[in-house]
Amino acid sequence: MAPGQVAEGISPGPGAAGRKVFVKTYGCQMNVYDSERMTDALVPQGFSATDSVEDADLIILNTCHIREKAAEKVYSELGRLRKLKAERAESGKQTMIGVAGCVAQAEGEEIARRAPVVDLVFGPQTYHRLPELVTRARAGESVVETEFEIEAKFRHLSTPSAAPAPAGRRGPVSAFLTVQEGCDKFCTFCVVPYTRGAEVSRDVDQIVAEAERLAARGVREVTLLGQNVNAWHGKGPDGRAWGLGELLHRLAGVEGLDRLRYTTSHPRDMDDALIAAHRDLPEVMPYLHLPVQSGSDRILKAMNRRHTRDDYFRLIDRIREGRPDLALSCDFIVGFPGETDADFRDTMDLIERVGFASAFTFKYSPRPGTPGATMDEHVPEAVMNERLQELQALVARQQKAFNQSLVGTVCDVLVEKRGRNPGQVTGRSPWLQPVQIDADESLIGEIVAVEITGREANSLFARRVSGQDDGQAHPQRVHM
Ligand code: SAM
Ligand code: SF4
Repeated sequence: MAPGQVAEGISPGPGAAGRKVFVKTYGCQMNVYDSERMTDALVPQGFSATDSVEDADLIILNTCHIREKAAEKVYSELGRLRKLKAERAESGKQTMIGVAGCVAQAEGEEIARRAPVVDLVFGPQTYHRLPELVTRARAGESVVETEFEIEAKFRHLSTPSAAPAPAGRRGPVSAFLTVQEGCDKFCTFCVVPYTRGAEVSRDVDQIVAEAERLAARGVREVTLLGQNVNAWHGKGPDGRAWGLGELLHRLAGVEGLDRLRYTTSHPRDMDDALIAAHRDLPEVMPYLHLPVQSGSDRILKAMNRRHTRDDYFRLIDRIREGRPDLALSCDFIVGFPGETDADFRDTMDLIERVGFASAFTFKYSPRPGTPGATMDEHVPEAVMNERLQELQALVARQQKAFNQSLVGTVCDVLVEKRGRNPGQVTGRSPWLQPVQIDADESLIGEIVAVEITGREANSLFARRVSGQDDGQAHPQRVHM
């Protein structure tokens, strides 16, 4: 559910109607998904979502702990909210403030100590208990809940409202669906295994049921989410542990779902069945986010990535063999402890050799509790900045070249919403770029054939190609 949208189909509890919840989401797509589920979980208590923080009776910050900056942002936001809460109190209104997500998990009591304005602190595995936690906080208790019980969360939060989108408004046509949480990889820079816990996979039946409900609401594209999504190994209806390739085949058969994506993957978990799914299933979009982090074997080892640069090259060759138009996206960290110029050159060389359509680039940020935080040989900030700039410039050139190569080609676009200007709509290409199309809003929710007519740094422009069978559940056309 988007902020501001009101969940339907469940009655508010007696006397509880009219309360508003505002959820501010930081970080990854999984937090976006979790924020929606939190809002859903509060509907029976009479809450509806608002996108105005001033209107909210309950404000939840769904936080990210992946880098220091991300965590610090939360404390500055809490400083602003302290004032808002005080102003509202002067006019007789009560405001509750909650901190959820990975900062809540990692810092727990420390948040309540540093920011007494906070009424409840709750970790990512406790969201299904949110109504109970809110009731306790309303009764004056300072609530801190950071238990790990992922299976229970999956059981309870797997039922987004099956009600159709409100009349006159189309529901979202693209949705996230969490299939896996947690991580057992323990990369030495990363807090995820500590904040999200061990890997847990949802069962096939649960996932398919959620996908069917989404499709019934008009969703045509689903992005499967997991911290390590291709390590997913959920129990199938036959009692066996399935792999992600098999799951994609099953989901491709769900009536109404035309596009499937998944993120984020680890190179070690790209197995044969998953690679084959990219080749065999037209519903699996030709886009893959496959972080490598570094192009230096020495640094990859220090990061405990458990793959080499050559493993990565071989893997990409195999995937592209079956799907030559695949667009690759990646994460890179510069300035990991001990990274020399030669190591950085290896990363630049890897980027040159692979060619990426986009990338997320980060300066290394030591995270308390991770092995990286105790490593010496810090890379000076100025060197990190230089490397980051050089790397970003290379990725930007590759992104530009990739987008330019699409100009003049015809592809399918899933139209998602109104465009930037009147008379325009915005959709997504198979390679995930936003596409601005001169067309009418009635196309929202349709898959239309377009010719790409131009590009900007991150988006494409297009015009409709007439005479095509728009809106049908046909294989994605990609003519390059
Ligand atoms: N599971 C994914 C993987 O293995 O690639 C990534 C998950 S993490 C939420 C997203 C990205 O944040 C990572 O790929 C990494 O590039 C970056 N990241 C994680 N910890 C970091 C740190 N301590 N400093 C800088 N970047 C970090
Ligand atoms: Fe973090 Fe991803 Fe490594 Fe897991 S695989 S520890 S989530 S970077």
